[in-house]
Amino acid sequence: MPDDVREVIIIGSGPAGLTAAVYAARANLHPLMIEGVDAGGQLMLTTEVENYPGFPEGILGPDMMARFREQAERFGTEFVTANVSKVDLSARPFSVWVDDEEHRSRAVIVSTGARARMLGLESEAQLLGHGVSTCATCDGFFFRDQEIAVVGGGDSALEEALFLTKFATKVTLIHRRAELRASKIMQDRAFANERIEFLWDSVVEDVLGDQTLSGLRVRNVKTDAVSELPVTGMFVAIGHFPNTNLFDGQLDRDDEGYVLTKGLAGETPATATNIEGVFACGDCVDHVYRQAVTAAGMGCQAAIDTERWLEAKAHEERSA
Ligand code: NAP
Repeated sequence: MPDDVREVIIIGSGPAGLTAAVYAARANLHPLMIEGVDAGGQLMLTTEVENYPGFPEGILGPDMMARFREQAERFGTEFVTANVSKVDLSARPFSVWVDDEEHRSRAVIVSTGARARMLGLESEAQLLGHGVSTCATCDGFFFRDQEIAVVGGGDSALEEALFLTKFATKVTLIHRRAELRASKIMQDRAFANERIEFLWDSVVEDVLGDQTLSGLRVRNVKTDAVSELPVTGMFVAIGHFPNTNLFDGQLDRDDEGYVLTKGLAGETPATATNIEGVFACGDCVDHVYRQAVTAAGMGCQAAIDTERWLEAKAHEERSA
């Protein structure tokens, strides 16, 4: 392989990618991380993180990602702060472009994450992390004894609403139709929960509040009547998108675009993709757990799988 070919390029810099970088760097693989212009992933959009082990006092999402990055850099990870524009995984070494600049590597770790579908209101973006959340598991605890709203009518929305009733005194589920999309069993559970109220045929038109959320302006789509809902939190649960368009036609993905992985040589853990030498981890693979700690764990697995695969390839080449 020519000198300019790296051992591994990591695409994406959330907990999965940066953990993969720490492990790959400590295994002397000299990783190059292409971290994106909005580096750090979804935790950059949160405030307090209280469920990441090792931070008993909690830590701000952006501060935690700065620490992840510092740790990856300490062991020699190099960073390019730009978005990947194109990849060619059809032959090894693989090519990854940032605009016109081509980077080549023996292995690639894909950790491009996912993003929550949002309503698209300016006020929603302004109060993200200050009353607006996309993760009940992460932020539910902050809404103890308060009244909050969940937007959406699918399984995620009902799951979030049910979870949030452990903390909130009342959860109003706002759905744009009069019928839920969620599975029957989730509907039954939600209807049976006295703390959940339903606001049917309704859409959020504005998120109210200056520094923190103080209410929602809601419009009934059938009558056009506008009302104010006095809540202190809004959980948006209208779906997620994996950031995997870059790999169209190259990596096998499921119907929703999440990268499909399988165990190396039939083993689990499973970070190998359909392309030998390309591994994937974190929220671009996992649409079930979606936690920083599970993404980090999977990043570790991807780095170990990569290291073992590179070692096996080097051994093959030496003995050829
Ligand atoms: P989903 O099933 O696509 O549901 C999205 C919901 O958000 C729908 O009710 C949709 O309304 C609503 N919505 C979409 N865009 C909206 C907008 N701009 N404004 C207002 N409402 C909007 O997504 P999901 O709930 O995230 O679930 C994704 C997949 O994961 C599903 O297959 C689900 O079954 C699965 N999942 C399963 C579980 C479980 O089994 N425990 C838990 C979570 C997720 P409409 O209904 O009007 O389209």
